[in-house]
Amino acid sequence: MQEAKAVLMLKLRRIGISNKEILTCIESLDRSDFVSKSFLDQCLEDIALPIDCGQTISQPSLVALMTQQLEIPQRSKVLEIGTGSGYQTAILARLSSRVYSIERYKTLADMAKKRLEKLNISNVTILLQDGFLGYAPQAPFDRIILTAAVEEIPSLVISQLKVGGIMIVPVGLPNQKQSLLKVVKNEKGLDITELMSVRFVQMKEGLVKA
Ligand code: SAH
Repeated sequence: MQEAKAVLMLKLRRIGISNKEILTCIESLDRSDFVSKSFLDQCLEDIALPIDCGQTISQPSLVALMTQQLEIPQRSKVLEIGTGSGYQTAILARLSSRVYSIERYKTLADMAKKRLEKLNISNVTILLQDGFLGYAPQAPFDRIILTAAVEEIPSLVISQLKVGGIMIVPVGLPNQKQSLLKVVKNEKGLDITELMSVRFVQMKEGLVKA
């Protein structure tokens, strides 16, 4: 177990994760708390794994890369769309002051809530909602991250990003290559950089109350 963790940490450094807080966070967080029992033996491998409701927990190196690209300042308010297992949520919680995380499956939202409570993470609010709407009551946000792919940047969500804020979002058509975009909002508009090719589950409209 220890050895597998060391291998993962080495890989993160090799791919350019230099942010010490992120490295410490991933090192101290137990991914086994976020996967089902049947995948425990693979939880330290740098791979995405299936979770309930046909979704996936992202690959740790991708979680680290996306988090580093978010450049989260201290005392910031972060919106995450696609809670899933809550693994990325737990990392965001340690790096910011407040996280609002939206999930469309009640099962996943409930499970993530319990996991975060068990880890004594208390600065996260998990919301059972349609992420396409963002979360107007707490807007604007300093940072926004989408962990499911969209065909185009959702207009309501980007409207909830502060000027000077950063959003990380996978964009692509279903079953096609997706690009991970870094979107910086400035006074004149959006500054968009393509970071890499990725493969995420597609974001879907509406809630699943089971
Ligand atoms: N970061 C998560 C990744 C989960 S996969 C993890 O590492 O565990 C993406 C998640 O986005 C899934 O749980 C899926 O149910 C959720 N999702 C898809 N469409 C959504 C929507 N419209 N609103 C909120 N969540 C959505």
